[in-house]
Amino acid sequence: MAELEGLEFGKSDFVLLDEVTMEQFMENLKLRFEKGRIYTYIGEVVVSVNPYRQMDIYGKDTIDAYRGRELYENPPHLYAVSDAAYKAMKRRAKDTCIVISGESGAGKTEASKYIMQYIAAITNPSQRAEVESVKNVLLKSNCVLEAFGNAKTNRNDNSSRFGKYMDINFNFNGDPTGGHINNYLLEKSRVVQQQDGERNFHSFYQLLRGGSDEMLESFHLQNDAAAYIYTREGATSNNDRSSHKAVMNALGVIGFSEEEISSIYQILASILLLGNIQFESDGENVQVLGQEAVKHISELTSTDPDSVTKSLLFRTVATGGGEVIEKGHSEQDACFGRDAFAKALYERLFGWIVSRINSIIEVKDYNPVLHGKNTVIGVLDIYGFEIFDNNSFEQFCINYCNEKLQQLFIELILQQEQGEYQREGITWQHIDYFNNQIIVDLVEQPHKGIISILDEACLSVGKVTDTVCLDSMDTKLSQHPHYTSRKVSSFPSCWTDTSGDNIWKVSLSNPVLKEMWPDGQLSITEVTKRPLTAATLFKNSIVALVDKLACKEPYYVRCIKPNEMKSPVLLDDARCQHQVAYLGLLENVMVRRAGFAYRQPYARFLQRYKMTCEYTWPNHLMGSDREAVEAIVTQHGFQDDVAYGHTKLFVRTPRSLFSLEQERAALI
Ligand code: ADP
Ligand code: MG
Repeated sequence: MAELEGLEFGKSDFVLLDEVTMEQFMENLKLRFEKGRIYTYIGEVVVSVNPYRQMDIYGKDTIDAYRGRELYENPPHLYAVSDAAYKAMKRRAKDTCIVISGESGAGKTEASKYIMQYIAAITNPSQRAEVESVKNVLLKSNCVLEAFGNAKTNRNDNSSRFGKYMDINFNFNGDPTGGHINNYLLEKSRVVQQQDGERNFHSFYQLLRGGSDEMLESFHLQNDAAAYIYTREGATSNNDRSSHKAVMNALGVIGFSEEEISSIYQILASILLLGNIQFESDGENVQVLGQEAVKHISELTSTDPDSVTKSLLFRTVATGGGEVIEKGHSEQDACFGRDAFAKALYERLFGWIVSRINSIIEVKDYNPVLHGKNTVIGVLDIYGFEIFDNNSFEQFCINYCNEKLQQLFIELILQQEQGEYQREGITWQHIDYFNNQIIVDLVEQPHKGIISILDEACLSVGKVTDTVCLDSMDTKLSQHPHYTSRKVSSFPSCWTDTSGDNIWKVSLSNPVLKEMWPDGQLSITEVTKRPLTAATLFKNSIVALVDKLACKEPYYVRCIKPNEMKSPVLLDDARCQHQVAYLGLLENVMVRRAGFAYRQPYARFLQRYKMTCEYTWPNHLMGSDREAVEAIVTQHGFQDDVAYGHTKLFVRTPRSLFSLEQERAALI
């Protein structure tokens, strides 16, 4: 058994702080970071600081040290929490989930990968082929999703531009039998435009750099990111070449057919070609510049070139009488339509890839009578709070999602505590905390919330502008204590973003495109019926996510980004304090300490501390383990600091346990 760390590494659990203040919290965080201890607990919550360097703490030896152990038996680690979630799932048949939060670059995605690797490593000891294959697909899916959903940003070279929730299903043996991925709000605006110094999604550069000459030639592409308007802001790297290989391989292993794989890359190529199409107006009519590109796109997507041209230059509008008419685009509208279509294509492609993976890994033929309860561990890796100089609709959605998750965190952590005390027959004092339900309501309440107000503005006749929406919010929300009127940039255009769907429903004969647009067969009038707004769709998906999490036993990983420079040696005080504050970590410590900081099953406690008491060493002769534990506690004089539950000892202040721990260390 690995020993607990010594004091020179700081306190391994923030509940052990002498006082719960920001200063002490930061001091401990900093000391541990400097000593290369990137994980620290708050009870069962793991606080993780991105080390920005390779750590030798994820290998097989470490996995073996954590496998099947209790949290307090080893230094803090993601593996300990993964094991706790796994044990709860296996021993108690509980559905569990691991929620990873933190801002961009804080280490969420890396953490989610280590968690999955750990689970893969500790399951299927008998190496059954079908289980190995499920594990393989689950692990390989990360590689594919990262290629299509991640991009280099100024904050993170491999930033996930979508939220991901993955369920892993287990049979009664505790072996993975399948899974399901939900993706949230892909940042599709990136397809057509990136900020200075950022890149489009990795997939484009991987294709341009890693695609074979024949492949690029057949796609009418040059192997040069600078040749395409959508990718010219970024540059390819050698990594893109090796990643392309890995992604092609992963797609094959997961079970994508050759046709499907080539369709995926044909669609990527079409998007690149589409981006280079320009328009020209003679004052009356708008023309496509570059018929060549149109021809290539129609070839790659198996569509008719005339319908491609037509869809770029015209839009179809349903009149009040149900008639359908065609209206010519202005040059500006044509550019907007082209970009909207490129974004929609990419978003649908991404969604299609996810649903294809899901259809492969979904648990089939599971009979609970034969196989026992099918249990689940969910892993959530989702964007954290974002505040930029210019905030748009995407930040609104992301921050709303974080408010929801924070709300759930507070509810579940408190609920979990109270539940445990009840089960163990211990009385406890209810404590107050800031409940951000009021913020959540401000956004999502029917009729009164921001989303409803904006939906209403969009439904009203006439053009929806930023001003219309803002005025409406100002009128209806000015009395709300948490509402401040703000200037917002480029809001409603994303809000009502459906324009990409209104073009090109004409003739989809490419099988993958057909699956991407299952509604492509609908008549035009039906399609142009007002669809749900992007905001309402997002809200619905987040409400469903929270419902899914709320019925599982939660485990939390709270990730902190130490600095903006990706430096392994710098812990920027102000930046970290800000994160500690908005993640509510101090409150978390207080809640944990208000109750009982430590709890251990009697037998475990005895095993660890029996040598510190004459009545229990080497073995006790008392009626029960509980009585033996009472003897230890009394001998050390902290009987006023504990409560005896039905199966566990509860210790209120960490100090008591700490002195015991020191005495134990002196004896061995
Ligand atoms: P997030 O998903 O929170 O935006 P990532 O998980 O992508 O952040 O991490 C950003 C980068 O930080 C990674 O690409 C990697 O270089 C580094 N990093 C994060 N976690 C670790 C870790 N545990 N060990 C080493 N490097 C890490
Ligand atoms: Mg990420």
